[in-house]
Amino acid sequence: MTTSKITLSDGTTIPQLGFGTFQIAPEVAVETVSIALEVGFRHIDTAQGYHNEAEVGEAIANSGLARGDVYVTSKLTNSMHARDDVMRSFDETLTKLRLDKLNLFLIHWPVPTRYDGDFVSTWKAMLELVEDGRLTSAGVSNFEPEHLTRIIDATGVTPVVNQIESHPYFRNDNARHASLEQAIAVEAWGPLAKGEALRDPVVGDIAAEVGRAASQVVLRWHVQRGNIIFPKSMHRDRMVENLAIFDFELTDDQVARIDALDKDEDGRQGPNPNVFDAI
Ligand code: NDP
Repeated sequence: MTTSKITLSDGTTIPQLGFGTFQIAPEVAVETVSIALEVGFRHIDTAQGYHNEAEVGEAIANSGLARGDVYVTSKLTNSMHARDDVMRSFDETLTKLRLDKLNLFLIHWPVPTRYDGDFVSTWKAMLELVEDGRLTSAGVSNFEPEHLTRIIDATGVTPVVNQIESHPYFRNDNARHASLEQAIAVEAWGPLAKGEALRDPVVGDIAAEVGRAASQVVLRWHVQRGNIIFPKSMHRDRMVENLAIFDFELTDDQVARIDALDKDEDGRQGPNPNVFDAI
């Protein structure tokens, strides 16, 4: 199955479809990520806070795949925003992942009520990692429009991606449009609304119309919006299903019907980045 690639603002490319690893416990992560690589995923999304970087690294090493064939993302955890902690924890991330160089590293949350609101220094530390050659691309996650403006105004450097909650119930158009206006690619986390969107009757109707699974319909909707996605599943058959989304298309009318499921803030499932402060 061919996965389309998106070109980021720094000229690198990222597979539009990847595999998410949030809440994949370390005890099962080597096996689960190994299966994901075996069935064809070539882009893995992890984070320092998921506590499975070492297992992701082991699965990649065991896969026998060439380094250049697997795109790996990790994220800086909220307690590591100080410059020296960025440097030290990034070293640990590389060691755990068994990599010399990481494709993409993101500030996981802006935590604007912590560190005297200074996520600009954190962004500068991320850029140091790119300059010293150990990181290919730097990005952010859960950044609201004003957070993006602040780091770009302060440094003149735009993150290559903004990874934000986005799914049929919460398109998150505010953060999405602010990102796209700055040529920042949008990564949609929780693309299936944690599985909830798969039980939606509108999605079910469209799935029957196109002869596809509900998950494929929702993921295809993301692809047609230009989102980068990495659905998580513990099951091989679901992984295979989630990969097979590049050989059909939704009509404009079907896309519009899914668009109409948006509940704006009422559809948000995760924390609001303006107030989220967990360390
Ligand atoms: P998803 O929207 O990917 O949904 C995952 C749920 O959907 C699981 O319960 C899974 O069940 C189920 N599922 C997956 N595929 C299918 C299928 N084909 N049929 C039926 N059910 C299915 O939620 P996530 O929260 O995992 O988001 C995806 C990724 O985004 C994360 O893993 C993580 O990498 C990233 N993320 C980033 C965040 C951030 O703050 N930057 C926050 C949250 C997530 P099962 O596993 O049992 O198959």
